[in-house]
Amino acid sequence: MIPISLESGQSDDWRALQRRALRSPAALLAALGLENDPLAETLDSASPFPLRVPPPFLAAMTPGDPNDPVLRQVLSLTAERAAVPGFRADPLEEADHSPTPGLLHKYAGRALLITTGACAVHCRYCFRRHFPYPDAHSQGAKLEAALAYLEKTPSVEEIILSGGDPLMLDDEKLAALLTRLEALPHLKRLRIHSRTPVVLPQRLTPVLVERLSASRLQPVLVVHVNHAQELRAGLPERVPALRAAGITVLNQAVLLAGVNDSLDALTALGDALFAAGILPYYLHLLDPVAGAAAFAVPRDQALALYQALCEARSGYLVPRLAEEIPGRGGKQSYAPTLGPSRIDATGLGEKVVVREA
Ligand SMILES: *Cc1c(COP(=O)(O)O)cnc(C)c1O
Ligand code: SF4
Repeated sequence: MIPISLESGQSDDWRALQRRALRSPAALLAALGLENDPLAETLDSASPFPLRVPPPFLAAMTPGDPNDPVLRQVLSLTAERAAVPGFRADPLEEADHSPTPGLLHKYAGRALLITTGACAVHCRYCFRRHFPYPDAHSQGAKLEAALAYLEKTPSVEEIILSGGDPLMLDDEKLAALLTRLEALPHLKRLRIHSRTPVVLPQRLTPVLVERLSASRLQPVLVVHVNHAQELRAGLPERVPALRAAGITVLNQAVLLAGVNDSLDALTALGDALFAAGILPYYLHLLDPVAGAAAFAVPRDQALALYQALCEARSGYLVPRLAEEIPGRGGKQSYAPTLGPSRIDATGLGEKVVVREA
């Protein structure tokens, strides 16, 4: 007889939901009652980076609102096909920092492993939209080569699982990978970067949480929420179990025009994350990737908004502002009081005076 695990029903839940993901922009608009909206004339149904929206994320959208900040992040539009100067297919030139395929070692102390090319959702602004990474991820011989590199590089104390999205791997594959990583004595921390917890919270299975909790490595989960409304999909209900299991939960967001480029949206995001037990970690400036130009926020405006955010909230509610600068070997972080902008972003009628960098 095959033993039936009590957990199996719950663990398979997310796979079933993922199979039901919407894959057509027309179907998405219809699900929101927007099939007769002018927006329906602008859809791209044949994008090489196709629409993908799991059912819980659909439930976070407001029916009847063509400007919904969750909808706008995922809806494929023909305008993405227009070439815009400065927006390129590979804005980060990441290939230079890869000691073995699927492993990036760019910064002191931590290395990043690309575990799978798949994602639970397709974000229109994503810098990986032109790389489904069919071959770049670490499995088989590539994983062995990455582990061999890590083994002879004791300065690496933190391993970051990224993608794509590492939580697209099932619990058994992740557990097997963890076991290999735990055998490297110099590793102290395990960080997972994933958008799945917010778009498909059912992925946070008891089996996964227990495995992370049992690890010798200190677990950190960095989720990816851009707008407070995304939390309607059900993530907050699952955070207490993560915290009880000793998992630190952080958030990274991307500053996106039409989604979260206002002081109200950014303060509401930080407040809602903290209320859910998640600390804001990074706010990324958009990478200039082809197809994403509609999400660009001018740099001056971004810095002024950030300054206003720093003044509006306690330090622990404010993420670090970060920008990837290709050719300069990594992320540029902005401290709260730096930046060349003097634009009034507070709406209070007072000038935000910002020190020159
Ligand atoms: C962003 C990134 C990291 C992590 O950077 P932190 O500042 O530690 O969050 C590590 N490796 C690569 C290649 C990255 O792009
Ligand atoms: S989940 Fe992350 S990697 Fe995947 S499309 Fe969205 S932003 Fe890109």
